[in-house]
Amino acid sequence: MKNAALFEQAKKIIPGGVNSPVRAFGKVGGTPRFISRAEGAWLWDVEGKRYIDHVLSWGPMILGHLHPEVMDAVIGQAKTGMSYGAPTKLENEMAEIVCDAFESMDQVRFVSSGTEATMSAIRLARGYKGRDIIVKFEGCYHGHVDSLLAKAGSGALTLGIPDTPGVPASVVSQSAVLPYNDTEGFIEFMRSHGAEVAAVIVEPVAGNMGVIQAKEGFLETLRKETLECGALLIFDEVITGFRFCFGGMQRLVDIQPDITCLGKIIGGGLPVGAFGGRREIMSLLAPDGPVYQAGTLSGNPMAMAAGLATLRVLKREDPYGRLEKNMNMFMDGIVSIAQKRQVALSVNHTGSMGSIFFGPGQVDNYEAVTVSDAAMYALFFHAMLERGVYLAPSPYEALFIGVAHGDDILGASLDAVDASLSEIA
Ligand code: PLP
Repeated sequence: MKNAALFEQAKKIIPGGVNSPVRAFGKVGGTPRFISRAEGAWLWDVEGKRYIDHVLSWGPMILGHLHPEVMDAVIGQAKTGMSYGAPTKLENEMAEIVCDAFESMDQVRFVSSGTEATMSAIRLARGYKGRDIIVKFEGCYHGHVDSLLAKAGSGALTLGIPDTPGVPASVVSQSAVLPYNDTEGFIEFMRSHGAEVAAVIVEPVAGNMGVIQAKEGFLETLRKETLECGALLIFDEVITGFRFCFGGMQRLVDIQPDITCLGKIIGGGLPVGAFGGRREIMSLLAPDGPVYQAGTLSGNPMAMAAGLATLRVLKREDPYGRLEKNMNMFMDGIVSIAQKRQVALSVNHTGSMGSIFFGPGQVDNYEAVTVSDAAMYALFFHAMLERGVYLAPSPYEALFIGVAHGDDILGASLDAVDASLSEIA
């Protein structure tokens, strides 16, 4: 069956034909590719067409697809059982490697998605502080948690439903949404409402409105003001955890949040999330404390095995310098091709994640993202897809490279960028 036929079939039995909205190509139009297999930096669709994969399952596959050590770990675990609903040694090993990598974590609890991690983190923060208000930032996406679906990024931006039906106004009324990178605005808010704030949650590099780096002083101000107001600071490192170094963005900016959320890379491609922090906060969780949180598949041995193998490879091989160098080269290449082809675009990138915004000027906040040229991105996306390069099907999602994207593959991607920009210019 071809992509189009599978999509028609899927639409009859799955809402929108997909199990997560951005996959439906809504923002770029056309037919989603149904993937039949993947290896290294490559994907193949059901029609046998091969693509360079710059989505990497939205971030987790930093080692590339079918990494031999991850495969061995998963296959080995499958032979001894896929889920027990009882503790395993693997969970201890995962918790140890994660807590060692994050100075801010004495304890960590594993869940099955990034959404569960942020949802549980804000429940814990509210329980710990006995306050209700959560502060989030425009364009930051923390999963589809009711109270955080106000001016959220990526999928929500793509669909144009920053406030989705189905979330009671009373739930969102406990969330304050402030502009990302507006340090002064944040100080002003905290000076007047800080005493009611349970926690401030932030992506330390925003990755769901395209990639937007925090401006100098922004994250430091979040730390300082939350401490002054007695609120918790939550770093959502679901994308950024283990992406730029063996730890989080928090290590690179030298800030200790109170709670950290993880996901994506720590599952090595299987469903995982985690949240962790100081013992005094984490010990409020059931069964030690009164804040309830649980999960049938939490700490699932298959996911722990894949995650542990991934983290061990990252720790041993320390590919971060090379990933950053490759991304710099790739993005510099895109900028110089765009100049040659006289296409107005800008790029933002940190380590192995980056994004391309069409239009003039640099993009450093949510406002600027929403006025970037989404129609141009859609043309570019299809021109690249045609040439065998799979980018995120939305201008608001990051593109990724991983350790399997060698010079030859990045060179082939750049050739496709050149041909695509020349076609659409
Ligand atoms: N937090 C961030 C920063 C994310 O990017 C995402 C997903 O993209 C999530 C939370 C939610 O993770 P999940 O999709 O695993 O629920």
